[in-house]
Amino acid sequence: MPLRNLPSVDALLQSAAVLIETYGRPLVVQAIRATLNTLREQIQAGAEVPQNQAILAFAADRLAGWTKPTLEPVINATGVILHTNLGRAPLSQAAIAAMQMVSQGYSNLEYDLATGKRGSRLLHAEALLQQLTGAEAAVIVNNCASAVLLTLSALASRKSVILARSQLVEIGGGFRIPDVMKQSGAKLVEIGTTNKMRLEDYEQALLGFSTPATQPILMRVHRSNFKLTGFTSEPEPAEIAGLAHRQGTLLIDDLGSGTLIDVTPYGLSYEPTVQASLAAGADILLFSGDKLLGGPQAGIILGRAELLGKIKRHPLARALRADKLCLAALNATLLHYLKDEAVREIPIWRMISQTSENLRDRAEAWQREIGCGEVVSAESTVGGGSLPGESLPTFVLSLAVQSPDAFLARLRGLAVPVVARAADGRVLLDPRTVLPGQDGQLVQALKFLLL
Ligand SMILES: *Cc1c(COP(=O)(O)O)cnc(C)c1O
Repeated sequence: MPLRNLPSVDALLQSAAVLIETYGRPLVVQAIRATLNTLREQIQAGAEVPQNQAILAFAADRLAGWTKPTLEPVINATGVILHTNLGRAPLSQAAIAAMQMVSQGYSNLEYDLATGKRGSRLLHAEALLQQLTGAEAAVIVNNCASAVLLTLSALASRKSVILARSQLVEIGGGFRIPDVMKQSGAKLVEIGTTNKMRLEDYEQALLGFSTPATQPILMRVHRSNFKLTGFTSEPEPAEIAGLAHRQGTLLIDDLGSGTLIDVTPYGLSYEPTVQASLAAGADILLFSGDKLLGGPQAGIILGRAELLGKIKRHPLARALRADKLCLAALNATLLHYLKDEAVREIPIWRMISQTSENLRDRAEAWQREIGCGEVVSAESTVGGGSLPGESLPTFVLSLAVQSPDAFLARLRGLAVPVVARAADGRVLLDPRTVLPGQDGQLVQALKFLLL
């Protein structure tokens, strides 16, 4: 019986010092047992008994698989800048350094160093946001969906919230703004038609609520990921805010992406900045930290101090609060705006502002080094529920391969996976979203696959 020729676990452990050093003894024992079980089945089916070193190599493969982080870096060659599935905004060096600084030891997260008493974690980002936007107050939560949930829970629970039909957005991953709203206890009142919204629609909906206690709240939601074109109209935010204030109620504006700088110089169509939206009269603004702001995942709530006070005191504020890593990275990101260096220091703004010549140079350099493919013009997108339908002209390296899908799968299978896209039977690699420091790695990987 060849099974008897299989070494024992103990015998194999004798030569497994390096594995034990790397992975710890209990896990190595488990891997060896699992390997021997598999081998027993194979030997019963007629396979040879392998050498001890070969058995240990199988166990080492298993150990590497078991301990490989499931969350790992990838190279984004898709040209989608805020790729939600790829983690949205890469952080600036300063943001990364700030996270490291507050996480390797203690910090004054909620400690007032002047008085030696408990402080507030919200102070850290609030002052910068006040300075940058002119808002009276700010609250930072886990993400923009949390910001919607918390704001409506604190201000609109058991009240009606008036929202245009054309703004009932599904954000992505099946999550719908109306569903998040319902969780807050707010009652959604849909107004207008799919394509047309008039100020009178808001006025009509406000009739019949006479007492301030039952007064509905007006809400706007950014059409993050789709464009409404054709026979359409909508009142300006300032008109809606004006109406809300005349009726003694509020306008909550979910900007989704929320940019602090004007996007038009980069060839993108006008998108109101956070500052402009505040100036238009919204009482509360909500936006993400990791969309056009280019910072960590966060939800930013800005607005009037009295309203933000209610939001800060709501029990959900504790449940949804941002952690110290987020606050550190957010502050460092906001500082870039204050110092007027956002476009230089924040990766997504560097990507957005890259010139066509620069992109062509990079794609051509890849082509020269790999020795194949063509450099052709194409489009990058901002993505991540920002600027729907907008694109930025780019140059991509286009590779003619036998099966684009199979080649994309091989790219994803690399030690540092590369995510790219296929179009018209070719694989396209867009330099815009590949960090400059990753060019060498990408070229090496392509050379290896194209051998
Ligand atoms: C993206 C988006 C959200 C959700 O933001 P997260 O930060 O991903 O939670 C909410 N509302 C709008 C309009 C959005 O575009």
